[in-house]
Amino acid sequence: MLDVKSLTTAYDGLIAISDISVEVKAGEIVVVAGANGAGKSTLLKSIAGMERPKGGTVTFAGDRIDGMAGHLITARGIAYVPEAKRLFPRLTVADNLRLGSYLHADKADREAPLEQVFTLFPRLKERLPQKAATLSGGEQQMLAIGRALMTRPRLLMLDEPSQGIMPKLVDEIFDAVKTIRDTGVTILLVEQRLVESLEIADRAYVLQTGRVILSGSAAEVRENPDVRRAYLGI
Ligand code: ATP
Repeated sequence: MLDVKSLTTAYDGLIAISDISVEVKAGEIVVVAGANGAGKSTLLKSIAGMERPKGGTVTFAGDRIDGMAGHLITARGIAYVPEAKRLFPRLTVADNLRLGSYLHADKADREAPLEQVFTLFPRLKERLPQKAATLSGGEQQMLAIGRALMTRPRLLMLDEPSQGIMPKLVDEIFDAVKTIRDTGVTILLVEQRLVESLEIADRAYVLQTGRVILSGSAAEVRENPDVRRAYLGI
């Protein structure tokens, strides 16, 4: 479904990711892990059209999308939840969700994903009139994911959804990611919490200083001696 080949992106001439190739097949949850500054967010931004890659290609559902504007990439079926969730803080939960559905002209089409969002995150339904700024960190993450689902994506890209969230809610978010996949949405998940994310992932890539240093099935990555040393302290 998504085929990233030899992608290179630089900021003012400084290479942030170099020659990265990542594949995501329909129906998979693929995790991209790595330490701070490894280039995980840059990879997602380069796919989402927020940064223009210097080299390489991004193919989605058979078409080249690298170099396209972000809103056109969204319209093709890729939803992206950035690390800084970019909610509209002064708007209500209901309005934030509504803004996610702008792609669809027909009201019935726009409202169709709402029930799915409420089933995933019942807390959002309880807080529809509340301003987004007053939600807890975990609830804001739920709203950001909910808003992304309102675009009815085929591929959902999440940048560190567990960041700054209390452990109990992290499990809830990871469970939701799995449920979203089970409803037919393919997932590309960026996470520093490699161990927890491998529990829901099919495959994983580990980045270090802008390059892929390891990739494989979730089981292969979990058993890798370097991963066990770096992430499990074994
Ligand atoms: P984190 O887990 O801390 O979010 P990351 O793996 O997502 O890290 P990136 O945010 O992609 O890493 O950053 C990769 C490199 O690119 C880092 O060296 C970072 O300082 C640099 N970088 C990221 N964004 C910019 C920018 N807008 N301008 C200049 N350099 C940047």
